[in-house]
Order: sequence, then C-alpha cells, then structure tokens
Amino acid sequence: MLPAPFIAAAIFCFGLVIGSFLNVCIVRIPGGKSIVSPPSACPKCGAQIRPYDNIPVVSWLLLRGKCRGCKTPISAIYPTVELLSALLFIGCYLAFGLTIDALKWAVFSALIVVLIFTDLRERILPDVINFSGFAAGLVLSFFTLPSDGAAAWLARHALGSPLPLPVISFADALLGAAVGSSLLWLVSEGYFRLRHREGMGLGDVKMMLLIGAFLGPKLTLLTILAGSLLGSILGLTFILVSRKGRDYELPFGTFLGIAAVLVMFFGSPVVQWYQSLLMVR
Ligand SMILES: [Zn+2]
Repeated sequence: MLPAPFIAAAIFCFGLVIGSFLNVCIVRIPGGKSIVSPPSACPKCGAQIRPYDNIPVVSWLLLRGKCRGCKTPISAIYPTVELLSALLFIGCYLAFGLTIDALKWAVFSALIVVLIFTDLRERILPDVINFSGFAAGLVLSFFTLPSDGAAAWLARHALGSPLPLPVISFADALLGAAVGSSLLWLVSEGYFRLRHREGMGLGDVKMMLLIGAFLGPKLTLLTILAGSLLGSILGLTFILVSRKGRDYELPFGTFLGIAAVLVMFFGSPVVQWYQSLLMVR
C-alpha cells in the first residue's frame, strides 16, 4: 500500500486532468458540439493549443492567462474549474477514503461542476448531464450502503419486512429524485400561476433528478433549502452591488450545485441534528 500523501497527490493530479476535460464539457455541451473533436483551439486566432500549453492550471499561469499566439485573454474559469475539481476529488478521498463511496461522490462532484458553470455562463443545464447523471446516481446506489433511512422506514412500515440493502439504497435514490424534482416543479408551477411568467426553468427540475438520486430524500431537501438561501443572499447582494434590474435572471442551478456539494460533505450531521431535535419533542 502506498503512503497516504502519494495517494493524495495522485488523486489531486487526476482531479486536475478531469477538470481540464470538464472545461471542454462546459464550453461545448451547451452549444451541442462534440466533446471529443476537434482538439482545443484559441477561439480568437484559431491556433491549436499545444500539449505543453495544455497543462492544467500551470499553463494558464505561465501564459499569464493569455493565448500564446494572439495574446487574447483566456478566461480564469478554466484554471478555476481545474483546481476546484482537484480539490473536490481530494475532499472525497479525505472524507470517504479509498472506497466506492468516494468514487460515487467524485462522479457526483464532476457532474455538478459542469452544471454550476454552464448555468453561470449561459443559464443552461444540459439534459445530457442531468439525465446521464440521474442514471449514474441510480446505478451507483446499488453499490453503496443506504444512509438516508427513508426507504428503510417505508419498507418496515409498509411492507413489514426488511429488504436487501442494495434495494433500499436504490429506493432512497428514486425517492430523492422524486422528492427533489417534484418539489422544484411545484415551486416553478406556482410561480408561473402567480406571476404569469417563467421564474425557474425546467432545467432546475431535471437537475434535481440527478441531485436526488445521489443524495437521497433528506439531503436533497437540505440542498434545496441551502440553495435557496445561497441564491437569496448571494444573488440579491450581486443584484444590489452590480445594479442589475430586478428582472436579472439568477443562475439558480449554480446555487443548487454549490449547495449540493456542501451538503455532500457536511449535510449528514445537520440532518442528524435536526432529527434529534424532533425526537426530543
Ligand atoms: Zn489566439
């Protein structure tokens, strides 16, 4: 077995490389372009990015955020996504060890990073990410232990018999997706009836299928709560500071994504604390 620092360093580098691929997804998927070809090029002068200029984070720093050929600025989003992915992967390793759970949460992090930035850049939450992520969450649930408790409770009270653990875990994933997406659908439908215009896209509803399948019902509800709080505080602050009108469209998917990642790491103790409050009464 390798010493932990070496494993951590390897996972960090792997995260940087995955982040580099996520950048391609973020830029190309919303426009319906292929993520495989052509190779990356400068959007301004069309010069192909050479392999030695394509090292995550390092190249951007060495080139001082400009194209080597035409000196057009390269968005700081690129190194941010690479660094963020690496840190999230390291976080999954530190929090969950070298386990299937860590793999599941690393996959979740990668999908969420794409959605956070496509929504921020273009107000798009691509179906291909939402639906393939939903499917991945359902499949991975079979290989991880159930932790939510909702499906186990239902099985005990409705069926009167315990079910195999993978079935319970899968049922938690389905429940999470159903609870999350139907709650957001109700909110968006209610807003539409009230104001007669779209307040929230269907993309957010579909994004909750993905988030719910990975997190299960309780953590999904916590994500919606935290995402709405983040959106209200950060979003309104941004609107005030930048003096955008009140019709400025906030990237709600970005806030849901940030909330989902925070809940992934820190949500379980919060849910336990809340449940213990309910028990006392
Ligand atoms: Zn260029």
